[in-house]
Amino acid sequence: MQEFKSEQLNTVNNAVAMAEELVSNAYKMSENQWLRRRYDVSTLAELDAEEVVDGPFAQVIRFSGRLKGTSLGSSAYDYYKICLQDHSILAALHDTPGMRLFPLVLYITTHELIHIVRFSKFLQSFDATPEETLVEEKRVHAKTRKILDPVSVSGLNNVLEFYGKWHEPIEGIRAS
Ligand SMILES: [Zn+2]
Repeated sequence: MQEFKSEQLNTVNNAVAMAEELVSNAYKMSENQWLRRRYDVSTLAELDAEEVVDGPFAQVIRFSGRLKGTSLGSSAYDYYKICLQDHSILAALHDTPGMRLFPLVLYITTHELIHIVRFSKFLQSFDATPEETLVEEKRVHAKTRKILDPVSVSGLNNVLEFYGKWHEPIEGIRAS
């Protein structure tokens, strides 16, 4: 399967950093409130076999943890791994005229971080029904667009246009 080359990885890292800033600003989260150490973003080279999927641009895996020495639910914490699927992203770049890596990864990561913020604020249930999942997906696409609309990034219009007609999930979400 095709992986990002080192130059592409730089582009991906920059897009992820911009998405983090945009989403934390949109939810008015301070540096301390931000979900640092609550998630990480990995690319294909770092994924285990079961973290690789065919089709979606990303797979979000939730790890449920509990702090040692406590039994109360309030000390339970979740950790999310955003597994970017290089091969699917590269295939979309190849197949879609005008699609570029930076704005596409910016869209995908912004979208996944919104899911994670909403999980962490209990605005989205991890055990949603398929109907609820579709409604939530529409909501997250709309929020992604709202955050990215005012942003000036070369090629972003093409990505927004692509997703303007798209309301289906762009990722798999599952528990570990
Ligand atoms: Zn989604």
